[in-house]
Amino acid sequence: MGTTDKSMFDLRKRCEWIDSFSGNEPVFDVAIIGGGITGAGIANILASNGIKCVLLEKGDFGSGTSSGSSKLIHGGIRYLANLEVREVRDLLHERNYLLSHTEIVRPMNFRILVDQYSWKRGTLWLGIFVYNVLSGHVSFPRFVKNGGEMPVSVSGYFNYMDAFTDDTKMVIYNIVSAVRKGSVCLNYSTVKEIAREENLVRIRFTDEIRHKDSEVKARFVINAGGPWAGKISRMYDPEFSGSLKLSKGIHIVVSSERIGIKDSIVLRSHIDGRQMFIIPRGEVTIIGTTDRFVRSPDDFMVDSEDVEYILESARRLFPGLSYSDITYSYAGIRPLYGESDDPGSISRGFVIKTEGNFINIYGGKLTNFRSVSRKVATIYGKTAGRRMNVRNLPVIDYRRPELSGKDLYRYERDYECAIFPDDIIVRREAYPFNLKDRGDSVKPLIAEILNENSEMVNLRNGPV
Ligand SMILES: Cc1cc2nc3c(=O)[nH]c(=O)nc-3n(C[C@H](O)[C@H](O)[C@H](O)COP(=O)(O)OP(=O)(O)OC[C@H]3O[C@@H](n4cnc5c(N)ncnc54)[C@H](O)[C@@H]3O)c2cc1C
Repeated sequence: MGTTDKSMFDLRKRCEWIDSFSGNEPVFDVAIIGGGITGAGIANILASNGIKCVLLEKGDFGSGTSSGSSKLIHGGIRYLANLEVREVRDLLHERNYLLSHTEIVRPMNFRILVDQYSWKRGTLWLGIFVYNVLSGHVSFPRFVKNGGEMPVSVSGYFNYMDAFTDDTKMVIYNIVSAVRKGSVCLNYSTVKEIAREENLVRIRFTDEIRHKDSEVKARFVINAGGPWAGKISRMYDPEFSGSLKLSKGIHIVVSSERIGIKDSIVLRSHIDGRQMFIIPRGEVTIIGTTDRFVRSPDDFMVDSEDVEYILESARRLFPGLSYSDITYSYAGIRPLYGESDDPGSISRGFVIKTEGNFINIYGGKLTNFRSVSRKVATIYGKTAGRRMNVRNLPVIDYRRPELSGKDLYRYERDYECAIFPDDIIVRREAYPFNLKDRGDSVKPLIAEILNENSEMVNLRNGPV
């Protein structure tokens, strides 16, 4: 490891940054709380504008909702039923941009099924037509008759195009892009307290690696805490009572051999009419999701009741699908801003609330992180009196080199700040969402790579 390598972004660099926060220096222009896709995109766009920012993330980058999504980059065809036309058009615009500008977003064909539980055939035709037009592409949907590849209860399907990604990879790529443009991004750093002081904000946080408290100062705070955003708002303003609701969505992952489909499937559950996705990704197929209010942003439990709901809904197409077919399952918590007893009817749009030098983001989607970043950067620029260029930004200009095996894992440790095995297995490589064995076979190798750097081991384990 060359100490002169400026693009190095590893545990040692992270600890050096924290150790440099002492006395009254440095004072950052902006502190971003939350290293999911929202915080990462904002760090990236601010760094492109030369804004000095620090990002604090309590777990690994992308370990919150941004690793619990369906991993679709889409306009959300379902939202047309709620007449959210503008929202869908904006999402499709972002989808098209990401499809043509990053290799981590790929096109995917979807078959939306027509059967007794789906919307009527004519309604689906119209919905897909409008969806295509809103994406800037006029084409007439064509009904394809079920030729026997699906149960007889399905009369056929319409095809439409959308896209998919690895959600956490998108986060990491934005984070590294931001770091390479001068941002300080700290994983495993939990914000505990936010104190206002004249023109400054003092943020106390815990370095979860070395189990010690630290402080950092900034002129502005951006709350990108996803489902924890309400909690963070209350650190700054104990009176905060915004209408942030939390809804849990779970997915199950099964072997693709068991399912045997090439295109993704969209269906409505016969249990309650909710829209569901069945998404093949190489060795595995992801099936989801649920939408149920929860009280705590930390409620990541995959409840058996929700698993049974997904299995039962999917059994209509894949009879006999059972618990033993599941290779992995995961949950994410949606932050939803709005009032309704039905989580499905609350808009997936984002809301930005500013209070002095505190900017809060509530809600949003993975797909539109660039719009959120541009809006936040514009608000910041106006409030702070800083000139901001947001056109065509943020740009994900980092790309991991083509590497494999030990070289790949060393690279992720040294240039993407992977500290623990799951930082590589679950997030940087997303093995459980692509491989049948969830990456179990490479776990020992990854542990070995993370342990071969004695300085890193000492930092992780603390002084002997
Ligand atoms: C089931 C499900 C399916 C979805 N599917 C899709 C989809 O297919 N396509 C799509 O576009 N969107 C989808 N979404 C929405 C999308 O995942 C979210 O909008 C997006 O990930 C939110 O990102 P975020 O950065 O705002 O929140 P998060 O990713 O949750 O990031 C917030 C971060 O803040 C950190 N944090 C919290 N408190 C503190 C603290 N005190 N100190 C430091 N850090 C803190 C957390 O650890 C977390 O990493 C889905 C969501 C769910 C739940």
